Amino acid sequence: MSKKQKFKTEVSKLLDIVINSLYSEKYIFLRELISNASDACDKLRYYALMNPGIAKDNGAFKITITPNAEENTLTISDNGIGMNKDDLINHLGTIAKSGTADFVRNAKDNGSVVDLIGKFGVGFYSAFMVADKVEVITKRAGEEQAYKWISDGVDGFEISDTERDKFGTDIKLFLKDDAKDYVDTIYLRHIIRTYSDHISYPIVLDLGKAGEETVNTGSALWTKNKAEITDEQYNDFYHHISRNFDTPWMRLHFKAEGNIEYTGLLYIPSEAPYDLFQPDRLQSLKLYVNRVFISDKVEDLMPSYLRFVKGIIDSADLPLNISREMLQQNALIAKIKNGTVSRILKELKKRSENYDDYMVFWKNFGVAFKEGIYEDVANRVEVAELSRFYSTNDKERLTSLDEYISRVIEGQTTIYYITGDDVSTLRNNPQLEAFAAKGIEVLLLVDPIDEFWVQTLTNYKGYPIKHISQAELDLKMERDTPRADEGSLKKLTDFMTELFKNEVGKVEVTEKLTKSPVSLTVESGQMSIHLERLMRNHQQQTAFASTRILEINPYHPLIIRLADSMFEPSEKARIEEVCRLLLDQAKIAEGEAISDSSFFSEKLSEYIMNGWSKEA
Ligand code: ADP
Repeated sequence: MSKKQKFKTEVSKLLDIVINSLYSEKYIFLRELISNASDACDKLRYYALMNPGIAKDNGAFKITITPNAEENTLTISDNGIGMNKDDLINHLGTIAKSGTADFVRNAKDNGSVVDLIGKFGVGFYSAFMVADKVEVITKRAGEEQAYKWISDGVDGFEISDTERDKFGTDIKLFLKDDAKDYVDTIYLRHIIRTYSDHISYPIVLDLGKAGEETVNTGSALWTKNKAEITDEQYNDFYHHISRNFDTPWMRLHFKAEGNIEYTGLLYIPSEAPYDLFQPDRLQSLKLYVNRVFISDKVEDLMPSYLRFVKGIIDSADLPLNISREMLQQNALIAKIKNGTVSRILKELKKRSENYDDYMVFWKNFGVAFKEGIYEDVANRVEVAELSRFYSTNDKERLTSLDEYISRVIEGQTTIYYITGDDVSTLRNNPQLEAFAAKGIEVLLLVDPIDEFWVQTLTNYKGYPIKHISQAELDLKMERDTPRADEGSLKKLTDFMTELFKNEVGKVEVTEKLTKSPVSLTVESGQMSIHLERLMRNHQQQTAFASTRILEINPYHPLIIRLADSMFEPSEKARIEEVCRLLLDQAKIAEGEAISDSSFFSEKLSEYIMNGWSKEA
């Protein structure tokens, strides 16, 4: 008995994109299905370690490809873990569970569907590029009942009970009229050799009466000598483990020897995945013990700031029957992690010498990588050394901290930064004026994570790292322009303090501004305005925690004019208006919202018109 179940709406949209957009690369379906079959064998092999005897009658692991020219079908079979009814519904009924909506959205305004498919892992569904009907017959290891899943990839799917002798899965594709090539054994052999040679189980082509032929070389790629592996094989393996389609930006194949031995084959993609900032931030390396797949969920194998690193670690020194639970907080795993992280950082350091090349990495993963300054206590300085930042030094080029240090001016012993939402607003922040006038470079930090690492890395190679509001430097400047009269200034600050008592804690005269009449800042050592805004946006805090200081520039003609007017009672209303506009201006420069935007725009127009008519 079977009943038809619907695909989720998003899934059908996605299927449509997959089926209709990938015409030029249809052959990838075979790679995807073989990849799944190989994973299924990995899983049963591990399962059998935990449940000895369970797979004893299941035969040696292999993947069989059976073309049938008469029926016009192609079947991909494995004797791996298999699926039960729930698996079929959960795994083949929804795709890319978390990311489907994003995918559909992205795919619409992004030409490169192939890349996206890679990122979203719609693997199994690629079958519908060549088939108008897919039939899956499968039996889950350790269970009695086998199931048949049938779908045309459009309407939904049906599941019914069936029989299957052994554990494993057959995926039978009823080929479309324009996909008859896939019963051609010469073509099949070619695709398998090209895209699936690295698979560590035999891939067998069923030639009917002519018998069976093993097509791939079939040994775990990472166990081979580097010199024997071609770039193409390395890349195919990357595609297999990452389900990405890009050419990796970095590849690292190494064998660690010493008190613990392990092999690593690691890659850094050349494109960022859509889920880099999902809250679980899980690492994505696969762990093997002596070529047996153990798990791809060993959290402690890689720190989360390197979660974008793809690949495998294989160690013969871990016990084969290690359970997934035992892998957490395991001392050997911790050693492997430390060794592997060091190698990655070392390799990144080499690559960082070429600016343009390194920027490909940085633009994709820099924001995640910087979490390491905060998270990785042991390698904090190395991660900081490899990080790149916007700064006031150069509009185009990002800087390293070492380059910054090489440019400090005489007497400067501190690395200065300012934080904000975006670089262009930051560049215009009045608080930078004195630094610019003195030729002191300031880092412009715009990622939320920056607010956190600056709390933990307070010193880099002998240079304290400080927010510009904490500058102990003498920022006074020699000036030959007129300054507002002391007595009037005092009157003005008192007036403003009273006027803004609900909005700012203090109004102070500053020597640090050159161009702007006013600027907002906080008391030295308090939470920055930007961090407060971040916390507010995440509902962490409702009221302002830091004391706002409104700084006024006694050399600015507007301030001089205001101060001069303080002794003219008839001007009171006008003075109040101008002061309010100045506070709004200071807020805007900080990226803060102003309290009464209709007042602001009305007055702005009024003053512009006045200025104009006088000039005329
Ligand atoms: P992905 O492999 O990227 O998770 P797929 O759409 O290719 O995405 O497969 C979805 C899921 O279906 C797999 O994660 C796996 O659990 C299951 N699956 C697919 N093919 C097989 C197979 N041959 N044997 C067992 N399970 C499979």
